[in-house]
Amino acid sequence: MTGRIIVVGAGIIGATAALKLADAGWQVTLCDGHPPGSEAGASYGNGGWISPASIIPMSMPGLWRQVPGFLLDRNGPLTIDWASLPQLTPWLLRFLWAGASKARVRRTAARLNFLLHDGPERHLELARQTGQERLILQNGLLYAYPDRAAFEAEALSWELRRENGVAYAEWDEADLRRRLPALGPAYRFAVHVTKGAHCRDTGRYVAGIVEAARRKGVEFRQSPATAILDAVTPRVVLQDGETLSADRIVVAAGIHSGRLLRGLGVRIPMQSERGYHVTVASGETPFEIPVMPSTGRMANTPTDMGLRLSGQVELARVDKPPNWERAQVLQRHALASYPYLSDDKAPRLRLWMGHRPSTPDGLPVIGPLSRHPGIVAAFGHGHIGIAAAPKTADLVIDALEDRIGEDARPFLPSRFGQ
Ligand SMILES: Cc1cc2nc3c(=O)[nH]c(=O)nc-3n(C[C@H](O)[C@H](O)[C@H](O)COP(=O)(O)OP(=O)(O)OC[C@H]3O[C@@H](n4cnc5c(N)ncnc54)[C@H](O)[C@@H]3O)c2cc1C
Repeated sequence: MTGRIIVVGAGIIGATAALKLADAGWQVTLCDGHPPGSEAGASYGNGGWISPASIIPMSMPGLWRQVPGFLLDRNGPLTIDWASLPQLTPWLLRFLWAGASKARVRRTAARLNFLLHDGPERHLELARQTGQERLILQNGLLYAYPDRAAFEAEALSWELRRENGVAYAEWDEADLRRRLPALGPAYRFAVHVTKGAHCRDTGRYVAGIVEAARRKGVEFRQSPATAILDAVTPRVVLQDGETLSADRIVVAAGIHSGRLLRGLGVRIPMQSERGYHVTVASGETPFEIPVMPSTGRMANTPTDMGLRLSGQVELARVDKPPNWERAQVLQRHALASYPYLSDDKAPRLRLWMGHRPSTPDGLPVIGPLSRHPGIVAAFGHGHIGIAAAPKTADLVIDALEDRIGEDARPFLPSRFGQ
């Protein structure tokens, strides 16, 4: 089927869906309160990793034992805002339960692999189609460790990656010094995920996808949706006063999707895993392979704007002001990882905070709502929204054409009773 469709939200998910829907023959209106690719969306400031290895959920066996330590460690990769704890607790318990056993994590990894295994190839094609080849590079992605023992301490993660066919090569200290001399001597072992890709400017990329979509007839309305209605026909009320009706609506408003759907009585458990970046804008980055040093657990990505250090998981209410101390943690890890950064005594830094839209079971929500079949969910991508966007857009189209395959069923909103 085709017809009129409204896509709410112009982050990477909504932008890619709008473009592919136009290709599939739909008459598309895309709305957002901000220009596509703006700092308001998670799609602006993320690490830009397009990694087939990102199939490991955040919630892993034994994590619950580490939570008290995380609460106390100011330099750790995960923090929980005490004041937000009462509101977070139901989500947090489901999140910990999702990773409570190896069997659960194995199942989640296989499901994520369905979304991510060919992400790099899909993005190379999307970049070609939108004239942005320069922004997507397939140089592989590097996970760096102090030594082999630190790598082996993550045995379960790499076992799951192997089981799912993620190709990687091990680098010893000599390989590291030769191929990535900018990385400091504290790292003596690494794993190169050979097919991994990255984006050099995700905000620009999203804007470019929307520009290409507009050339194909997609109408962009810069006005946020204030309500989604579903009586007689699906409708979107825009803040500018107009109400648009359509045959179908795709909700791709990232962390704000849950709030929008609540008006319809739909409740999807989603919390923000707030993340930060620091971009060091001084000079050329002396390497072209993105790195994840195990000690800081952050994605270090060469971008058009400089070296971007992105990471941290801060569980806190969406409306809390950023805690820039979290960004400084990233900066401290970077200074310890890359000695060359210390040469610049007055680096130009840009700081950013964004919301990973995260479900407790670590899977995005993709597909029609059970009680509102004209409304299709496309949100909840947590840590993998960039990598999974092109596949998500295809799953949205499959759902609209009543072709939901077995592999796509775990993402349906019906798993939350919706
Ligand atoms: C620090 C950090 C690092 C990350 N690193 C990576 C990575 O390396 N690789 C990866 O794959 N993923 C990564 N992610 C995750 C990724 O950024 C997200 O999963 C992805 O951007 C989500 O895309 P989205 O389109 O769903 O949401 P968003 O990009 O947030 O877009 C949602 C859009 O909806 C709009 N909107 C909100 N409310 C309304 C409304 N009422 N009406 C209309 N529009 C509305 C917003 O303005 C926004 O433009 C990272 C995230 C963070 C925070």
